[in-house]
Amino acid sequence: MENLNTDRTIYNRQVSLQTIDPISFTSRRDVLKSIVIGGAAVLFSPHSLLAATSGKKDRLGVALVGLGYYSTDLLAPALQQTKNCYLAGIVTGTPAKAEVWKKKYNIPEKNIYNYENFDQVANNPDIDVVYVVLPPAMHKEYVVRAADAGKHVWCEKPMAVTELECRTMIDACRKNKKALAIGYRLHHEPNTQEYRRIVQQKLLGNVQKVSCGAGYPENRTNHWKQNKALGGGVLYDMGVYAIQGARLGAGMEPVAIVSAKTSTTRPEIYKNGLDETTEATLEFPGGVKADIKTSFGEDINYLNIVCQKGEVKIAPYQPYSGVRGNSPLGEINHPYNVPWQQAKQMDDDALAIMQQKPMLVPGEEGLRDIRIVEAIYKSAGTGERITL
Ligand code: NAD
Repeated sequence: MENLNTDRTIYNRQVSLQTIDPISFTSRRDVLKSIVIGGAAVLFSPHSLLAATSGKKDRLGVALVGLGYYSTDLLAPALQQTKNCYLAGIVTGTPAKAEVWKKKYNIPEKNIYNYENFDQVANNPDIDVVYVVLPPAMHKEYVVRAADAGKHVWCEKPMAVTELECRTMIDACRKNKKALAIGYRLHHEPNTQEYRRIVQQKLLGNVQKVSCGAGYPENRTNHWKQNKALGGGVLYDMGVYAIQGARLGAGMEPVAIVSAKTSTTRPEIYKNGLDETTEATLEFPGGVKADIKTSFGEDINYLNIVCQKGEVKIAPYQPYSGVRGNSPLGEINHPYNVPWQQAKQMDDDALAIMQQKPMLVPGEEGLRDIRIVEAIYKSAGTGERITL
């Protein structure tokens, strides 16, 4: 039996080898090959990136757009740990925040922008990458503006609100020959990579059934998460993790939404049909099903993958540290501390840009989930099976 609970040395070796892991490369290439948008492959070619990456830097300057919770508590601290990129600039609508960040992170005045003058980043060679960390309904505008300003773009999940927005973002980056990566940190995470390896290599045989839950008690009542116009609703915010669990756990792309249901126990907060909880059943080739649940009303955090020769159980499935689980092959538990995951993600993406390689999580990956989000809402609204 293979012991997956490896010692620190093996763990470090696995982590350092991730960017050249032949498994993830094969799957990435296959995934990218399979995506054709508007009749043309959307993968930017290494040559176009070569032309697009100006100069030879040994680390890239990153500007964070939107200095809310995730930028403040996770990304900025992670950018103090990264080797291949650093916090070079900020974009904020709040001058008081700009002052605090400027002092705390030693950010030069010329690298501080607001939402109006943001496009001038085009003339700033310190900034190579713009990282959009705004409410989901604002992602498309800032990704397109960043790409048009000639910057590589990282964008937080969920990629956007509609499939059309996602395609517009991908097209803008392709047109400007810029990289686009989505902030699905778990793709860069070793325990996630381990369960994917078990599935992809069929180490426990074929997948027969998947279930995934992602949720937490969201006690704010007037946040963008409760505002449809800003991209609110639990399916966008936490549901994409459950969709990711279904897709990555099955190791296949779904062919249909069999059924879906949205609900709320707090209609005074989740108004006009906005979902506090969503449940859905996805169908994959061969009749494999995945049951997913996402909620702002309860703590749920699991991924179960039933295979022919046993079950992979991951819980918690999507925390910032401590993703762990087990299978008949052994324990899955590579340890690390917050915010290593975010640092790893940004280091991987910065290195890929400098080496003119594809992004591990390109825009097409975000688009796949938003198509599914839209189909789940449609199924919940009509009561019908929706073919993807
Ligand atoms: P937040 O509400 O804490 O921050 C949002 C930021 O956007 C704030 O600085 C706010 O001032 C700014 N903003 C600008 N215009 C706004 C407007 N019209 N309405 C509201 N805010 C506006 O949100 P967050 O939790 O930091 O989330 C930001 C993004 O990061 C979201 O896409 C979210 O899904 C994502 N996120 C990802 C993870 C992850 O693990 N990958 C974790 C948390 C959040």
